[in-house]
Amino acid sequence: MTANYIHATYIAAAACFILALKWLSAVSTARRGVIAGILGMLLAVGGTLFNPGIVSYRWIATAFVIGTIVGVPLAMMPMTAVPQRTALSHAFGALAAALVGTAEFYRASDLDVFTMVPLALEVLLGYLTFTASLMAFGKLQEVLPTRPITYPHQNVVNLGLLGIAVLVAVYLIVNPAAKWLFPVLPPLALVFGVLLIVPIGGADMPTVISLLNSYAGLAAAAMGFVLNNKMLIIAGALDGSSGFILSVIMCRAMNRSFSNVLFGAFGQMQVRPGAIEQRVYHSATAEDAAEMLANSNRVIIVPGYGMAVSQAQHKVRDLFDLLTRRGLNVRFAIHPVAGRMPGHMNVLLAEAGIPYDRLLEMDDANLEFPQTDVALVIGANDVTNPAARHDQGSPIYGMPILDVDKARLVMVIKRSMNPGFAGIENELYYRDNTLMLFGDAKTFVGELIKNLAAST
Ligand code: NDP
Repeated sequence: MTANYIHATYIAAAACFILALKWLSAVSTARRGVIAGILGMLLAVGGTLFNPGIVSYRWIATAFVIGTIVGVPLAMMPMTAVPQRTALSHAFGALAAALVGTAEFYRASDLDVFTMVPLALEVLLGYLTFTASLMAFGKLQEVLPTRPITYPHQNVVNLGLLGIAVLVAVYLIVNPAAKWLFPVLPPLALVFGVLLIVPIGGADMPTVISLLNSYAGLAAAAMGFVLNNKMLIIAGALDGSSGFILSVIMCRAMNRSFSNVLFGAFGQMQVRPGAIEQRVYHSATAEDAAEMLANSNRVIIVPGYGMAVSQAQHKVRDLFDLLTRRGLNVRFAIHPVAGRMPGHMNVLLAEAGIPYDRLLEMDDANLEFPQTDVALVIGANDVTNPAARHDQGSPIYGMPILDVDKARLVMVIKRSMNPGFAGIENELYYRDNTLMLFGDAKTFVGELIKNLAAST
């Protein structure tokens, strides 16, 4: 009876997870997707609590309290810190899988090869994902250097270490009685996790985090095989495959290959002495910019990380309303990796109530820029850098960008000439059709609104 009840909750939970993934893939259904995901998790955890195999509700209650104490402040982190928060969740999830695998290895007396294969995978992936995720957190939070750290023969060292870890795992799979050898495995995986992330630059962290999501999911699925728990197998497989698909989508958005992300040391500061310093740029005041906006018909707003930092989305909504009321055709161009997480801009614009049909995806927006009077860039930088199209020496060469430079006039709101996340200069700022509007995004958009309102 209890077993039937548990199975029923697991089936319902699996359905919720699948629906959540489906709904999360479109902006208009994303909210429903989040609710389905939460419901699925409640059902999965609730069903598992009825498992007669559970030995200690006291320990579970203790873990629940500690998890809540840690989890609530984590959930309160600002939107801009979501990537690093996600990295922390992967770290905890992977550590849990690794510890369960370790405990099972010492607890179970009848380990056959069919249990040992997933167990070894769980332990290897779990420990390496734990340290790799912590490293990714450190780089994104900037408590560790974000630039890639490289040294000669790095890939040989890393792959050699992984090779040794795999050999140890294979020996243990064949000889599960060799308990003395097991303690060698976790340190090897933990060190490999650190070395895996060291040569990867901060700009590639989103892809890496998505890949680590996939590893943590695979570790959880392997744990499901070890514990014979179908829910873990399903949830882990969904997590593993969706993380992998997201990484592929992100690599495509940046025109990079997996091997280039993992071994390419992308994001090192590009210093080209003399090339940029002598260049001239044009700037304008809010008053001038408002007048030029008022005299245009077609405007595309390009939001980026700076809009998120400054929390300017509600002011941007006011600007959108004002311009639309004046009869302008105003749309938003969304780059897949604008901001600091996939979908970052969609979330902010949805929060501000911008109608979904005003959002253009990158390819559609690029068809529109040549017919656009003003491309208004608000706190976006790397995703608008034309060097990606033609400068083979640029680290972002080949990354698809928003072709804002093809608009008749480009206005860029940012605080200074400082580079964006990839640490490289943006040649857009020195073009004849670009005007720099210096200031905090929220304040500057507020000024634009004030000047526009005054001119009606
Ligand atoms: P960028 O990081 O390239 O540029 C953001 C710009 O915003 C900066 O140049 C900064 O200039 C400006 N800015 C910062 N604060 C403010 C503020 N308060 N007001 C106005 N402007 C401000 O952002 P993009 O969105 O163009 O590109 C995203 C980058 O992040 C890409 O390199 C991408 O690979 C990477 N990334 C993407 C993730 C994702 O999944 N979306 C996750 C992690 C990284 P200034 O200091 O002069 O104001």
